[in-house]
Amino acid sequence: MIEVRVPDIGDFSDVPVVEILVAPGQQVAAEDPLVTLESDKATMDIPAPAAGIVCELAVQLGSTVSQGSLVLTLAPPDGAASTEADGAAPAAAAPSQPSPGAEGADRVDVVVLGSGPGGYTAAFRAADLGLSVVLVERYPSLGGVCLNVGCIPSKALLHAAELLTGAREASAIGITFGEPTIELDRMRGWKDSVVGKLTGGLEGLAKQRKVRVVHGQGRFASPHELQVDQERIAFGHCIIAAGSAAAQLPGIPYHDERVIDSTGALQLGDIPERLLVIGGGIIGLEMACVYDALGAQVTVVELMDQLIPGCDPDLVRPLAKRVGGRYQAIHLGTRVQGVRAAQDGLHVTFAGDLPAARFDRVLVAVGRQPNGAQIGAEHAGVQVDRRGYIAVDAQQRTNVAHIFAIGDIAGEPMLAHKASHQGKVAAEVIAGHQVAFDSRAIPSVAYTDPEIAWAGLTETQARAQGIEYQSASFPWAASGRALSRARSDGLTKLLVDPSAPRRVLGAGIVGVGAGELIAEAVHAIEMGADAEDLALTIHPHPTLSETIGFAAESAQGTITDLYLPSSRRSRGAR
Ligand code: NAD
Repeated sequence: MIEVRVPDIGDFSDVPVVEILVAPGQQVAAEDPLVTLESDKATMDIPAPAAGIVCELAVQLGSTVSQGSLVLTLAPPDGAASTEADGAAPAAAAPSQPSPGAEGADRVDVVVLGSGPGGYTAAFRAADLGLSVVLVERYPSLGGVCLNVGCIPSKALLHAAELLTGAREASAIGITFGEPTIELDRMRGWKDSVVGKLTGGLEGLAKQRKVRVVHGQGRFASPHELQVDQERIAFGHCIIAAGSAAAQLPGIPYHDERVIDSTGALQLGDIPERLLVIGGGIIGLEMACVYDALGAQVTVVELMDQLIPGCDPDLVRPLAKRVGGRYQAIHLGTRVQGVRAAQDGLHVTFAGDLPAARFDRVLVAVGRQPNGAQIGAEHAGVQVDRRGYIAVDAQQRTNVAHIFAIGDIAGEPMLAHKASHQGKVAAEVIAGHQVAFDSRAIPSVAYTDPEIAWAGLTETQARAQGIEYQSASFPWAASGRALSRARSDGLTKLLVDPSAPRRVLGAGIVGVGAGELIAEAVHAIEMGADAEDLALTIHPHPTLSETIGFAAESAQGTITDLYLPSSRRSRGAR
């Protein structure tokens, strides 16, 4: 019998168990996570030191543990020699079929661990460059969080939300619909069909390129081998694209099905009467937007003193104003103290003066955590930091020269479009190209209503870092297109170098469709464009894209659609 005890967890003691991932009788492989602990600084999984069958749990949810505390006991796996039960941890799970060996003929050029936007892009690019590729995915469908339980299903539901709010608000311009009827099953079915088309498409693209897809949990067995359930794959190079998972908060009864994360929220199980969203970041606010449109009374609680902390306050203001008028409440600078599950609902207490309140569902959206602790990286010698990130150089190389990491696991920002670009870099470097990930701007978009998008330098960053800049903005109240769409709640802002030729350093847009509009500014920053380049580009009229041209004209002092004080007007030629 192996006694599994809490290993050295640094300076922490009396750390609560927030998740139990196994049950008595369950067979586990070496390194499988058994329980999750959460301190005020980090969440950590306790892995199985060896393969075995869980006998008895010595902890329960909420138990507090320290280094050396007994977590559970493991019996040797079926058929294992009894000497394995001495508690010594093997270096890796034993392969159940002969290993082809790191240098063997069966060795694949590239194995990609994880099939999200980073992983599948890396795999397909590597195959297009003539390399043999295996793509490993633990879930039945390809596409990772983004396609299955993230960006895509949320955008489908946000489209539904837009239609619902648009129909309700149409009365202001003389069109009155009846109250929309929501058929939740059909809406869910439609959302799932959108996801299905994309994930099915990936299967087809993999086949066309002869990328072999292996489904199963992948863990390193050695620097040149990956164990995927029963199969051991020998590789020349590996690209780790294993992503991230929703971060958890202590004191939350996660076992209660009324407590959900973004995946649960996207399942659209029901429309709760009262929904509490913990975390006023991008995920929390996108889901709040969906459930508000569906008819839930939404309350948002955010730890910091602003929604979407880190984003420039002038960009957040139009969103805060709109949702402030629609939601039940928005509590800023507030921490949730605890959630108690009772028959009549989830009773939530807050730090400070805010009275306790009861909700039908609680959505926890307090950030994401990289999956670095779950891949047996130590067997390959790949360094993973305490938070689960893997450090990489500009070519996406880890500390082990033939192993690369991309996407969420390789650091912030955790965005699909960053991951896919890094995936291409890693594949090309492996194929011998002299390339690096060297972007000037990675755009961020909150697909809320109104949307907020930004790229490059922000005013918040510029002030914090003492970077000189000139800010030039164009309010959508002066845009014919925004007014004719009855959505003048927007702003387009450019940050430019204050000295000529006023190079574009950053951009921020709030308003409907901001996520589409930001691309022009990203292109400008990437190309090293000046405000003049944008101002002299003829934008179609009347469009929202004009607001970028107008903001650039404002920086140049040549704008005629606003009245600038004479000190800011340019008297030179355009
Ligand atoms: P986030 O970090 O953007 O927001 C989490 C929020 O929770 C923060 O505002 C934080 O202050 C707050 N918070 C933390 N602890 C709290 C507590 N105890 N009580 C109340 N509030 C608390 O994280 P997210 O929204 O979960 O998104 C995760 C990641 O996924 C981000 O990196 C994001 O960029 C990415 N993402 C991007 C998109 C997109 O591009 N549209 C969509 C979804 C997610």
